[in-house]
Amino acid sequence: MKQDQFLTVLGRDEALTRFEAALAAHPIGVESVALAASLGRVVAENVVPAIDVPPFDRSTMDGFAVRAADVASASDSAPVMLALTGEIVACGIAPKRAVTAGAATVIATGGPMPRGADAVVPVEWTEPGAEGTVVVRRAVASGQNLAYAGSDLARGEVLLRRGSTVGSREIGMMAACGIGSLAVFRRPKVAVISTGDELVPPGEALRPAAIYDSNGPIVAAAVAENGGEPVAFGAIPDDEAKLRAALAEALATTDMVILSGGTSKGAGDLTARLVGELGSPGIVAHGVALKPGKPLCLAVCDGKAVVVLPGFPTSAMFTFHEFVVPSLRRLAGLPARAEARLDATVPVRVPSDRGRTEFVMVSLGDGAAGERIAHPVFKGSGSISAFAQADGFVRIDALADQMPAGTVSEVTLFTPDVRVPDLVIAGSHCIGLEPVIDRLAAEGLVVRVLALGSLGGIQAAKRGECDIAPTHLLHAETGLWNRPFLGDDIALVEGWRRVQGLVHRKGDTRFEGKTVAAAIEAAVADPGCLMVNRNQGAGTRLLLDGLLAGRRPEGYFNQPRSHGAVAAAVAQGRADWGMAIAAVAEPYGLGFLAFGDEHYDFAIPKARIERPAVKAFLAASAEPSVRTELEKLGFRPAGRGP
Ligand code: AMP
Ligand code: MG
Repeated sequence: MKQDQFLTVLGRDEALTRFEAALAAHPIGVESVALAASLGRVVAENVVPAIDVPPFDRSTMDGFAVRAADVASASDSAPVMLALTGEIVACGIAPKRAVTAGAATVIATGGPMPRGADAVVPVEWTEPGAEGTVVVRRAVASGQNLAYAGSDLARGEVLLRRGSTVGSREIGMMAACGIGSLAVFRRPKVAVISTGDELVPPGEALRPAAIYDSNGPIVAAAVAENGGEPVAFGAIPDDEAKLRAALAEALATTDMVILSGGTSKGAGDLTARLVGELGSPGIVAHGVALKPGKPLCLAVCDGKAVVVLPGFPTSAMFTFHEFVVPSLRRLAGLPARAEARLDATVPVRVPSDRGRTEFVMVSLGDGAAGERIAHPVFKGSGSISAFAQADGFVRIDALADQMPAGTVSEVTLFTPDVRVPDLVIAGSHCIGLEPVIDRLAAEGLVVRVLALGSLGGIQAAKRGECDIAPTHLLHAETGLWNRPFLGDDIALVEGWRRVQGLVHRKGDTRFEGKTVAAAIEAAVADPGCLMVNRNQGAGTRLLLDGLLAGRRPEGYFNQPRSHGAVAAAVAQGRADWGMAIAAVAEPYGLGFLAFGDEHYDFAIPKARIERPAVKAFLAASAEPSVRTELEKLGFRPAGRGP
């Protein structure tokens, strides 16, 4: 029977329904916490003050408590003199003497109103009169300059509702009502277990062929963001006994168990097999028609959720948000995350596999007409940097084979407090951007960089989806850089020059001391000499294709997308040579044969050139201190002018 479920791939809705029905999540309990310890907790019972705030009628001005009728005729030309009662009502002093007709009591802001008085004349509207009197120069209406008891909060009014989260303002309100402790939902403890022989905890040295455990920390943080208390179990090797022990401890000591990794067929389904033995009803879905995220495994073991997320970090996060967050929030007493969804226009067509619900990471921004847009960030499910560039994700229905350009789609935000970037830079990435962005960040601007390549950036600029598209494209016919690729609506601002050249390992005599042209001729003639190419659309690729003149040496079809990847391939001996910029040769300890300058410039939609963030970018990149930093990185800032 269990075997059956292993073999059946369920649709998203069916898998979620089965899981939620088996779990029937509800708050795990209530506890009382002191007011000072309540920040971030979820209110379990409506908080209702037992007193009025303010507790008595009080003055909101420094001045004189009076009967309004006595000063109704007061003016500069006909001031009214009142006799002082002799009492001074400061904060915390209960008045004893009544204000009778023709009398006034000195009162401070916050002081309780004396019997008989119904208004306060501010001190600025008065002047001292003869001994024991005050002269009033302006009238006040009854009720003016005072706050009545309960006018802020009335006894019995609900101050905080069940399910709301306590913030600093809520703490202030409760303090004003004298509430020293309150009932909050217990935080569900959630065990977070990473699995894999290859995983190393962050902070430790990386072994060859190992990777850092990123799922553990990101899942733990996302658990905390959704009302849970993460219990980090770290990374457990793919070892049956160790994993079994960790699972047993997790199930005995926590309210929910989230694993990741070890669910793909290659891993022998070890994790899922052990989860299947834990308790009843056991696995309710293993294999869900999702992309990415197919190996997801959902189980309920004796009342507790046990979920195995796919190993790849982005797949792990999509499935966590879709399948785990709703139940986790119910356990924590939190409402559904309505605040973490918004509608946005997806400006480009996104192809999709029919038959699987597909998740696509998106980056939020402003479109040409000021509409909110969600730009897909295609990075592959193994990517971590997509989290820095994406604000959330959209879902493409299993029945659809694409999402047409211009679709208004619901975006699930990774965190509710997303800030839409002030400046979107889309195109070719260069480390020379970093000092410029540092400057903008120091000014409080949020900058988003999307690595779309030179051509991708120009297309985004033409569609009005980005503010700045950095590009370095040489136009073969005219010999001009960048400008011939832009239409009338796009301005070009010169950026900096980068030295392009051939990278090789130091001491490799096949290259050392040669010119680029001679080195390439020799390399092409030697079948044992392996190159690493660049992707279509990259400026460097056009340059290489020109030098190779139609030849396809060994390694030509290895086409990574960045200068850094080229340098890494050569440094690690997976290739012997490639083209990259001088700035990456040094950090990888590579030899470098200079070829020539390339122009790294900025294509800017004319409609956006007056935006404050664009102006700030241009100003920052022209700043002398930034230019000095660019020169240190090996770039030569160009002259300015569109
Ligand atoms: P698995 O499901 O164990 O086969 O893992 C699929 C992929 O995800 C592999 O490339 C793993 O190295 C990677 N992966 C698994 N767990 C983690 C983790 N905790 N952090 C980062 N990557 C992971
Ligand atoms: Mg694994």
